[in-house]
Amino acid sequence: MIVVMKVGSPEAEINRINEELTSWGLTPEKIVGKHKVVIGLVGETVSLDPLQIQEVSPWIEQVLRVEQPYKRASRQYRHGEASEIIVSTPDGSVVFGENHPIVVVAGPCSVENEEMIVETAMRVKAAGAKFLRGGAYKPRTSPYAFQGHGESALELLVTAREKSGLGIITEVMDTADLDIISEVADVVQVGARNMQNFSLLKKVGAQPKPVLLKRGMSATIEEWLMAAEYVLAAGNPNVILCERGIRSFDRQYTRNLLDISVVPVLRNLTHLPIMIDPSHGIGWAAYVPTMAKACIAVGCDSLMIEVHPNPKKALSDGPQSLTPDDFDRVMKELAVIGNAVNRWEKQAVLA
Ligand code: PEP
Ligand code: MN
Repeated sequence: MIVVMKVGSPEAEINRINEELTSWGLTPEKIVGKHKVVIGLVGETVSLDPLQIQEVSPWIEQVLRVEQPYKRASRQYRHGEASEIIVSTPDGSVVFGENHPIVVVAGPCSVENEEMIVETAMRVKAAGAKFLRGGAYKPRTSPYAFQGHGESALELLVTAREKSGLGIITEVMDTADLDIISEVADVVQVGARNMQNFSLLKKVGAQPKPVLLKRGMSATIEEWLMAAEYVLAAGNPNVILCERGIRSFDRQYTRNLLDISVVPVLRNLTHLPIMIDPSHGIGWAAYVPTMAKACIAVGCDSLMIEVHPNPKKALSDGPQSLTPDDFDRVMKELAVIGNAVNRWEKQAVLA
């Protein structure tokens, strides 16, 4: 349920209502929006009559039931307002959200060595990316394939952040590694294969860094939002959803089917920011620029693009990785669409 407060409701009254509802065995959560304060209520609300809550205070404007099984992730929970996820990076705060410029995340599939990660970081930054992505722990189909360099790769990400000023996004696969990843990463990624690893979701929900939750390759939209709900329910309000392609019957010419239709659907269902990863979505570098343009046109809040200084030699996902030169060109093309939809960061004009 959500309790919508009247504009100008006194702070003391909101706190009093929270205390009263807590004494009823509910878990109220105060959400301060741009226009209104809303109190989200999770707990045994089925038997409660909204009118009963309405009577708690004359400052209550409305009490509404959230019908979806995902409560905190629902758009209604924030009374229709989009979330803003603010991430601090060495270069300053970056905001993920519907009313902000598109945030571009770029980098290699795996962190391979210092030279390649620093070079990639400097190049993607110069082209306009705000975050460097790179895997230290890799979920590979084959146990014989490169598994990532683990902890030493995290140290290389720290070096790349220091040198470039970019924020860092890297994946956690195992709860045992979460503490060190959470220390290094500015955003912790949960990959497609772990989208329904509920013990991992609870743990990432209990650590302080924002979480990038990729869609499972066969997950429905509802399953995905329920996975986000696990993180939110564990106390972490900062979840970014990332579409990365779903399984289809045709794997001959595309790796996955990039489901850009999720953007308008999610917009309607949730307040959480939406990222799209066209690299894993389509799986071939030659098609990534076209799909990236489509992602912007459909209204994503953020893009994730794999970039490698030498894709032919990459230890993972080379075929879908752009070179830094390609990425630079693509960013210029994306700026045209980004500006057309008024979602591209204004370039600083030199005096
Ligand atoms: C990745 O981002 O490198 C990755 C493994 O992605 P996904 O979980 O979407 O396959
Ligand atoms: Mn990859």
